[in-house]
Amino acid sequence: MPDSAMMSKNGMLTTIHTRISADPFTANYDLAGKELGRGKFAVVKKCIEKATRKQYAAKFLRKRRRGKDCRMDILNEIAVLESAKANPYVVALHEVYETNTEIILVLECAAGGEIFDQCVTDDGTAFTEKDVIRLAKQILTGVAFLHRNNVVHLDLKPQNILLTSARPLGEIRIVDFGLSRRMDNITEVREIVGTPEYVAPEILNYEPISTASDMWSIGVLTYVMLTGQSPFVGENNQETFLNTSQVNIDYSQDTFEGISSLAVDFIKSLLVKNPRKRATADESLNHPWLNSLPHPHSHPHLHARSASSLDEPEMSQSESEPESPAPSPELDLIGSYLMCPGQGELKTGRAAFSFSESPFPTRPEIQQELMC
Ligand code: ADP
Ligand code: MG
Repeated sequence: MPDSAMMSKNGMLTTIHTRISADPFTANYDLAGKELGRGKFAVVKKCIEKATRKQYAAKFLRKRRRGKDCRMDILNEIAVLESAKANPYVVALHEVYETNTEIILVLECAAGGEIFDQCVTDDGTAFTEKDVIRLAKQILTGVAFLHRNNVVHLDLKPQNILLTSARPLGEIRIVDFGLSRRMDNITEVREIVGTPEYVAPEILNYEPISTASDMWSIGVLTYVMLTGQSPFVGENNQETFLNTSQVNIDYSQDTFEGISSLAVDFIKSLLVKNPRKRATADESLNHPWLNSLPHPHSHPHLHARSASSLDEPEMSQSESEPESPAPSPELDLIGSYLMCPGQGELKTGRAAFSFSESPFPTRPEIQQELMC
């Protein structure tokens, strides 16, 4: 298949340089049997390249989703990975294969799994504050690189931050650029999909979104890594959205027992409702917390509402997905946005919700509006 130079749609990067091979994937790779993970439309399996015996992660992405051709979305994911290949904290793309039904991304294998697992553990392997500082620096370095290149990730959460090794604790790799967008095209974005516990208030309000929306998610992520608790999670999505929108957050001493006040200050600089007042990735990298030396063994982990809330599957899928039917913590928050060049922002194409009436779309509304 030829290299693709595609038209831009919805802020998506659509010109890719990687050759898409039509060879059978199995001609060049052995599947190592182990499934590494799965999401809504993808299953990721460990594989070994026959020529080198090197280990990779093969992400099998279905081209048709809910009756729609989503090949462009996959090209966008590839293009973003290409644009970030100079950054060590963004997962490396090795090769791409295409079949009638799927595109297969052969990725660097992050063998340590999701940082999620160490956020919710109570077996003594939870992160220390010192660990979190090191990992947060790496996440911010990767995200600052994306933001400098005008790319927003839009789905930063512990399931999409992987580790090169779990024990000893390795480096992070940012994965899953399926929702990422370029911020410098004039185009309309019809659907923004995120994950309720990590989504920024401006997205819920259909207000302009920007690179600052990722910074909100990093604030939530840091909170979860330090405390094992998800700061905005409620009994249901409506409650989670309301907590987020009201920035209803627990900074009590109980929750932050054993955690430095600089860490709390760092989180507070990110969980700011006004995106313009939120710290940027570069500013965050200069925060004193990241250059502090907390007690090496301070184990800030608490478990009260953590594991249960984090493990909760959010929503069932609107149709059965034969390739990847896993319970997924993803959720589809749909809005209609317009990208604004120059400002690096997406502008709303519809009115914000009024909380006094119907604060958030109900499940049937979401299904109707859902696209890829
Ligand atoms: P989705 O878009 O379906 O969420 P992801 O890219 O997030 O797909 O992959 C789903 C899961 O597969 C991840 O949460 C992670 O557990 C695993 N995974 C993805 N990429 C890799 C990789 N390069 N190495 C190891 N595991 C991976
Ligand atoms: Mg994912």
